[in-house]
Amino acid sequence: MQTQPSLYDLSFEQLQARIAAWAQPTFRARQIWEWLYVHLADSYDRMTNLPKPLRDRLAAEFALGRLTPQIDRLSSDGWTRKILFALPDNAYIETVLMEYDTRNTVCASTQAGCAMGCTFCATGQSGFQRNLSAGEIIEQVLFFERALRKSEGEKERRRDGETVGKPVDQLTDPRSTDHRITNVVLMGMGEPFANYNALLDALHRFSDPVGYNFGARRITISTVGLVPMIERFAQEKSQVNLAVSLHAATDDLRESMLPINKRYPLGVLIPACRTYTETTHRRISFEWALIEDVNDTPEQARLLAHLIKGMVCHVNLIPLNPTRDFSGRASTRERIVAFRAVLDNSHIPNTLRIRRGIDINAGCGQLRQSVISNL
Ligand code: SF4
Repeated sequence: MQTQPSLYDLSFEQLQARIAAWAQPTFRARQIWEWLYVHLADSYDRMTNLPKPLRDRLAAEFALGRLTPQIDRLSSDGWTRKILFALPDNAYIETVLMEYDTRNTVCASTQAGCAMGCTFCATGQSGFQRNLSAGEIIEQVLFFERALRKSEGEKERRRDGETVGKPVDQLTDPRSTDHRITNVVLMGMGEPFANYNALLDALHRFSDPVGYNFGARRITISTVGLVPMIERFAQEKSQVNLAVSLHAATDDLRESMLPINKRYPLGVLIPACRTYTETTHRRISFEWALIEDVNDTPEQARLLAHLIKGMVCHVNLIPLNPTRDFSGRASTRERIVAFRAVLDNSHIPNTLRIRRGIDINAGCGQLRQSVISNL
């Protein structure tokens, strides 16, 4: 396994400084940057406009990425692919590619593990390892981008189910016409705002017009509700979307599911969300995992509607993904319909999200949990 620093951990300025220290012409930094973020080179040999001695020096001092796929699973319907990556220090992270409609969405991790301890989440149940670097966040997305670009021409084989269990670089993509990642959600393992500097660095690099050039409006960050960071992020004037994991409309219930609610109760969190929308003029999303007989009651729906009334917002309802250490079940169809009716009557925009990839443990942290528990 690679132990050198990753070239993806350098900012453009740091790369320029390294190139200058090696007495190379300044334009070499731009060429390398383009190989990394435009051409998505997977080997130094592909960087054919660089002199061989420079390629050799780069290879001697920097790994070209540090993610090593350990487990690679494709859901039975073929539309969700999940990879467990190992990092050189034996940290594990999960990344998911979801293909539906015209979208290819990558759900990436920002930390290895998570310290937030949400009771229904496999990552929360397994504890915290470390923050990811900006490069490690970006690499997850570029890994799937590279795979999609390579996938053209594999349509028929995937339709026949022949690619189940194949390495991701042989991924087939039967529906996408442009073979590109269309959306990035930072909703995988970890609390993005607990790794704020690396997160911001990664966001800037995603949108770098001379690099990956990925539109900020196609990126979504999900937070469990770190109020000071929501306030700070509002000041960034970013076009990136913000989602808040709410899951309950009363403090006692929310506390029982999300320990962070003790530090930032609803009376603090909701005003911070309101201020965010007023400052940024951007809509905020609220995530709500529907758990039978826990938070799917009409009363919770009424309280939720009251809590967020008048805010420029949207509620995403997601039936619970089952996890090993949480006994709750996903809400039934009838209860979901009743819950939504309350929101609809209160004119709260809401969407019911389809659960994907249950057969491959696609929920955040589930694959890592199954691997770590078997080590
Ligand atoms: S839901 Fe998110 S914030 Fe909560 S424990 Fe899981 S990864 Fe961490």
